[in-house]
Amino acid sequence: MTTEEFNPNDATTTPMTRLQFDNRFVRELPADPDTENVRRQVLGACYTFVNPTPVADPKLVAYSMDLATDLGIRPVDCESRQFANVFAGNEMLEGMQPHAMCYGGHQFGNWAGQLGDGRAINLGEVQDIHGQLQMLQLKGSGETPYSRSADGLAVLRSSVREFLCSEAMFHLGVPTTRALSLITTGEGVVRDMFYDGRPQTEPGAIVCRVAPSFLRIGNYELFNSRGDIDNLRLLIDYTIRHHFPHLGEPSKETYLAWFKEVCERTADLVVHWMRVGFVHGVLNTDNTSILGLTIDYGPYGWIDNYDPDWTPNTTDATGKRYRFGHQPQIAQWNLLQLGNAIYPLINEVEPLQQILTDYVELYTNKWQQMRADKLGLNEYQGDDDHELNQQLQKILLLAETDMTIFYRRLADVSCEQKDLSDEALLEPLMEAYYAPDALSKEDKKDICDWLRQYQQRVQQDGTSDQDRKARMNLVNPKYVLRNYLSQQAIDKAHEGDYSMIDELLEVMHRPYDEQPQYDHYAAKRPDWARDKPGCSMLSCSS
Ligand code: AMP
Ligand code: MG
Repeated sequence: MTTEEFNPNDATTTPMTRLQFDNRFVRELPADPDTENVRRQVLGACYTFVNPTPVADPKLVAYSMDLATDLGIRPVDCESRQFANVFAGNEMLEGMQPHAMCYGGHQFGNWAGQLGDGRAINLGEVQDIHGQLQMLQLKGSGETPYSRSADGLAVLRSSVREFLCSEAMFHLGVPTTRALSLITTGEGVVRDMFYDGRPQTEPGAIVCRVAPSFLRIGNYELFNSRGDIDNLRLLIDYTIRHHFPHLGEPSKETYLAWFKEVCERTADLVVHWMRVGFVHGVLNTDNTSILGLTIDYGPYGWIDNYDPDWTPNTTDATGKRYRFGHQPQIAQWNLLQLGNAIYPLINEVEPLQQILTDYVELYTNKWQQMRADKLGLNEYQGDDDHELNQQLQKILLLAETDMTIFYRRLADVSCEQKDLSDEALLEPLMEAYYAPDALSKEDKKDICDWLRQYQQRVQQDGTSDQDRKARMNLVNPKYVLRNYLSQQAIDKAHEGDYSMIDELLEVMHRPYDEQPQYDHYAAKRPDWARDKPGCSMLSCSS
């Protein structure tokens, strides 16, 4: 039979069965011998076999066509009944070995002990069309031994956010886990969204997440915390063998090279977050990927007006540990926990300490180069550019300035025309201000002074306006997944209208392109969204 003859309604010939699983994680690492699905401490194992809980009425809301294609799943497959059944956890494909991972973590700076996949279940590793194995993981598919006091479920609101943001980040060029599908369960889930004793029933949903691995810093921390060095070593050797194979055979040097590379990847990741204005919101060590991916989209948010002190997470409102501008330091703190976790394999503080110290310089260099790229400069040129950046920081804080629009519009400020009036110079940027009238005369003068310095700096490079704009527009997106846009898509989804999810997925597919038909999705946050829950404030309750 050719694929064209495939009938999606005929369950016996469905091509979903073509997915080839090669489950090296469960094959090569120790399993929990106990397969009973009761909450408990799991010792000496990397995971527990556990089945997803079947749901009442799985319905496909959205899927990522390009990710499906990468996995060898055609659109017609995605729209089949079987796809919804499989990615809601109601049907297992041959080769799947569902399991929940065991990990610990530091939450808000405190060691929390065993956490684990409390509402995520890995289905298995499937080979994508590039020959790479990808773990498929359901999020929100029921209780596991790691569910602690919670229900193992996810609501539509948080699932829409995870689905859209994973794909948006991918197309923005930010390393991330991905999302294949968003499926409603037909069941209600009770959530006290504001922790104010007014729980409500919300629609349940499941996202299928996809990544080469969902290993986190917390996986390594847990073994070390229990003094289980044999399993720590097994897990690290496994990680290097499959995810960092270029580092070579296990040895103390290899472990250090691995730690260094994890630091490098994490630095790259945070540079990207700072570039696009993404705030993770709960950057605990259990939410920090060992591959340098953005993982666990919870109370994340996007910077509208530039504010390094902003955090979307209401749970973090007092300490603001996970605020936008603090992410580079928090990443280093998390890496320090990884350093502690692998210490028993190194038995020397100094080389680990050195790598962590080097992280600061590494991050700073990467960020300086990224800032130069954002300004369309050839390269970062030391003290002068440092001063230009310091001044820019002040300019951005003079009045509420939309970060995304500011950088995008800066590309429209001419650096070739040297005799522009202040007004003409400022004109392209005015769109970025939330209250342009609030800009005082002095503010405008400060901004113009900075723009003239910037013009001079660009002229030094000899870059034409046209080239600079083209370059800047490759790193400064026109479209980001603004908090209020996701919330609008969620509000509509609650009424059964999923069209805005599809539209946002479509627009976020090409975030650096102008796409004039979607201009309204590039608009700054409207005033009604300023303090609206979901738009500016989120809780971990999802
Ligand atoms: P997070 O910081 O949201 O990634 O989650 C921290 C820990 O809580 C992880 O072990 C999660 O699996 C677990 N968790 C979060 N929400 C739930 C839930 N609804 N049911 C079970 N476990 C959960
Ligand atoms: Mg998590």
